[in-house]
Amino acid sequence: MTLERPRISARVRAIAESATLKVDARAKALRAEGRPVIGFGAGEPDFPTPAPIVEAAVAACREPRFHRYTPASGLPELKDAIVRKTRRDSAYEIEASQVLVTNGGKHAVYGAFATLLDPGDEVLLPTPYWTTYPEAIGLAGGVPVEVFADETQDFKVTVEQLERARTARTKALLLTSPSNPTGAVFTVEEITAIGAWAVEHGLWVVTDEIYEHLVYDGLATASLPAVCPELRERCIVVNGVAKTYAMTGWRVGWIVGPSDIVAAASNLQSHATSNVGNVSQVAAAAALDGGLEAVAEMKSAFERRRRAIVDLLNDVPGVVCPEPQGAFYAFPSVKGLLGRSHRGVEIATSSELASYILDQADVAAVPGEAFGAPGYLRFSYALGDDALHEGITRIQKLFG
Ligand code: PMP
Repeated sequence: MTLERPRISARVRAIAESATLKVDARAKALRAEGRPVIGFGAGEPDFPTPAPIVEAAVAACREPRFHRYTPASGLPELKDAIVRKTRRDSAYEIEASQVLVTNGGKHAVYGAFATLLDPGDEVLLPTPYWTTYPEAIGLAGGVPVEVFADETQDFKVTVEQLERARTARTKALLLTSPSNPTGAVFTVEEITAIGAWAVEHGLWVVTDEIYEHLVYDGLATASLPAVCPELRERCIVVNGVAKTYAMTGWRVGWIVGPSDIVAAASNLQSHATSNVGNVSQVAAAAALDGGLEAVAEMKSAFERRRRAIVDLLNDVPGVVCPEPQGAFYAFPSVKGLLGRSHRGVEIATSSELASYILDQADVAAVPGEAFGAPGYLRFSYALGDDALHEGITRIQKLFG
């Protein structure tokens, strides 16, 4: 008799389906049926990648040395560009040995936790969180410990909350500023205070700065290791070109950290993926060295859309939308619409509400459940102005 073993490992079975991708897939399916779906689901700029970046990639395609394997940890020219970029944008001096180029920011998050965590290690996870974090922590054997901050505290955890959640098993804190899904941005003072607390307790911090350039209202913010030098030995920065340069499909991200951690993470990567596509790496280097003009243009479009979407959402009875200060997401509370019947349909959760809005109004938004925060919806406003107006107006009509 043969022993019946599970077909799929427990580790992989435990991964939750990505709710963001699920909404996106359903929206695309409806669109394929001919329905006029407006998608607020995808977290990606609607602009094409700026032309000079594309041209650099085209030239790289023609170079035989880029048709070959290159160092698993990244092209030296891209690492050097990341060193310069980190100096320019964060006033943080690093060396190329502190950089690992990854297959997007998502892979950087995975590499950071795989390198840091042993089974049972706890990671403090400010909530609402980006969907991927608990999965990346869990895959590495770690335990995500949610620390919730709602809109009454601008979706920002405090040092006191973190301290209450800290235990003898806490190894690291994850910090994301600006935040996906809330758009919250920590001030220089708040970042400095969190860094000082981490130093005091010997904790690591993984700081995801992928939205660093999308900060509005002239708010001053900072990169954690720049304002907290004592933490540099235990700090990993996650970053990438996806959001800043409209390069989501090129798949280039990186981590910056202490060189022993980077060497270990590079070793892992050398067995998992080897080098990131060379053409994409050359494009990323061109993006980083090319200045921030294109970013400024995209940012002013996002800024306009941010004001529009916040006003429109706040006009929907039962919806309360705080003004986000960064990234390109609005994260309104929809609790006022729950526990009631709408057009004869009983709606108890934000997840049911998202399905109802998609079915009735052909508008896709991601339910807060995907971010550990039931009772909210996430709207990405990285879509065209007209579609934005039309989409939220449909929601107004549905509940108005
Ligand atoms: N971090 C955050 C906070 C994000 O929102 C995203 C993209 N949704 C990423 C990292 C990863 O981006 P990418 O893998 O496309 O570089």
